Amino acid sequence: MKLLHASLSLISLLLILPSIFAASSTKDFDFFYFVQQWPGSYCNTQKSCCFPTSGKPAADFGIHGLWPNYEDGTYPSNCDNTKPFDSSSISDLISSMEKSWPTLACPSGSGEAFWEHEWEKHGTCSESVIDQHEYFQTALNLKQKTDLLGALTKAGINPDGKSYSLENIRDSIKESTGFTPWIQCNRDGSGNSQLYQVYLCVDRSGSSLVECPVFPHGKCGDEIEFPSF
Ligand code: 5GP
Ligand code: 5GP
Repeated sequence: MKLLHASLSLISLLLILPSIFAASSTKDFDFFYFVQQWPGSYCNTQKSCCFPTSGKPAADFGIHGLWPNYEDGTYPSNCDNTKPFDSSSISDLISSMEKSWPTLACPSGSGEAFWEHEWEKHGTCSESVIDQHEYFQTALNLKQKTDLLGALTKAGINPDGKSYSLENIRDSIKESTGFTPWIQCNRDGSGNSQLYQVYLCVDRSGSSLVECPVFPHGKCGDEIEFPSF
């Protein structure tokens, strides 16, 4: 009887162990995608764009967002509606954000609506690691650190409306940052595939680039245009 009891207890322990481990390893996210957009490719589509109220941005990649993601490719969004975007908490960052995170959507705006959207949809999902000020500061630091345009031009890949091999684009960013980027394309007004956004992966703390555990879906051609801006 005692033996039966003992084996029953052992069996129930073995049955519940996996769920205990699963619960303790459930994370709010696994890594970030750091996404930068080429303004020329946002603006030359059939939809066109509007420059920010502060004027035409520099001909450089701009930040789109820092997006918490899971390793299985899914992602959390809009995680905390009790923490609204608060521009007063990032007043020291606004002038850098106007330069590095410009909005190109219409109608023209200062950028606040774009930053607010990115904070509410994505930023609130990384609150266990970084607060609102750190979220925006982290994205600005990553932009500085990655210098995509520098990586491309060093390899002779210039925003001149010519076509370049996707492989050379990828390799030049890998060469310069140390990590393989994922390239997202869109189409210009005539339907040509072009370099739109570059995704790099970042660890949970937001401090180091990492190899991407998973890439998004979508395909560019083998040769893609790099439009001017
Ligand atoms: P699209 O469908 O245009 O690629 O993405 C639309 C929006 O969905 C993005 O701007 C972003 O907010 C969100 N999104 C798309 N793919 C991903 C992803 O792989 N991870 C995360 N975190 N968000 C994504
Ligand atoms: P996501 O695709 O990140 O979910 O959403 C981007 C949102 O921000 C859209 O509602 C879009 O209209 C707005 N937005 C404002 N400025 C920009 C911009 O420069 N680029 C992109 N991709 N979206 C912008």
